[in-house]
Amino acid sequence: MRRGEISRAAAGAILTIDLGAIRANYRLLSKKLGATKCAAVVKADGYGLGGVEVAHALQQDGCDTFFVAHVSAGIKLRKALGASPAIFVLNGLPPGSERECASAGLVPVLNSLDQIEAWRGLASRSGRPLPAALQVDSGMARMGMAPSEVDRLAADPSLLDGIDVALVMSHLACADEPGSAVNGEQLRRFKALRKKLPAAPASLANCSGIFLGKAFHFDLARPGVALYGVNPTPGKPNPMKPVVRLDAKVIQTRDVPKGEGIGYGHTFRTKKALRAATISLGYADGWQRRANGKAFFNGVPLPFLGRVSMDSIVLDISSLAEDAIRAGDLVELIGPNQTVDDVARLSGTIGYEILTGLGDRFHRVYLGGGAE
Ligand SMILES: *Cc1c(COP(=O)(O)O)cnc(C)c1O
Repeated sequence: MRRGEISRAAAGAILTIDLGAIRANYRLLSKKLGATKCAAVVKADGYGLGGVEVAHALQQDGCDTFFVAHVSAGIKLRKALGASPAIFVLNGLPPGSERECASAGLVPVLNSLDQIEAWRGLASRSGRPLPAALQVDSGMARMGMAPSEVDRLAADPSLLDGIDVALVMSHLACADEPGSAVNGEQLRRFKALRKKLPAAPASLANCSGIFLGKAFHFDLARPGVALYGVNPTPGKPNPMKPVVRLDAKVIQTRDVPKGEGIGYGHTFRTKKALRAATISLGYADGWQRRANGKAFFNGVPLPFLGRVSMDSIVLDISSLAEDAIRAGDLVELIGPNQTVDDVARLSGTIGYEILTGLGDRFHRVYLGGGAE
């Protein structure tokens, strides 16, 4: 168990990250993939949960391939993990970053002919081949080479001189909608585009893509959010283990008489006397202001009263016995009674955004990261 820099006593809330559950989720996905290799996407600092901690934990289950979005995140991960794992950079090379990328031993995902030219230029100047992934756009129009650019590469293989193609990849736009015709169409286009490029391992599936079946697996899968416990099969039971727990501290409790306004704008006014508790967590910690929800104390729901503030939320604790809850006690915001997916629904967003929006004012506790 490791602890964050903010002490438990001083923190307003405790974020507990179960690395053992992340490892179990990785093993479940690996098993589903059979012979296909399972990488781990740890972009946005491991979806907000700590990219280095997550990668270290997954290395113990044999994960040796990681994806980040930025060169800077790749450099940080390389320092932490040492020389051996492969670290791919999804957004590729910002102009001028080639040298930094190469000296950290990162593998850029080259998304355009310009990025290819820049990487080839560095390979030529340094007199050694440089590894890269090539991304093709199979139907998302976000990143990767359009079919016409792939045709240019096919027509002039010298454009890839000095580039050691480690992976050919693309990304699915609608993987979480198994009924969507887009999936089959992207699969068809990916297969066709891949044939025009040098022979290399192929990768198409994110975590939801893994659940679309074998045809989508190819040589390497790139799961992210499911590792962190979010449901990769929306609308069906979640096959993954929960990873995150968020508990906030009670700052104070009070009796509020009938007819009082609570919080900014007095959007809530008491219809009868009640007991309230103010907790030390607000929208600056990633709990969105629009997400009017509840917390839990020993499984008992405690509805929010009035608006979410920047650093605090007021709860109705009238259903608890008097003095059941006191300053310093913890209430659950994310945990067994309220999953990340539940919180996402309250906010009108997806679990990805809830996780990556979690703030940095928590005392962090990592469970279960060690070797078994
Ligand atoms: C974020 C991302 C992934 C991982 O996606 P999940 O839905 O979190 O599994 C995989 N590949 C690419 C290109 C991505 O951008």
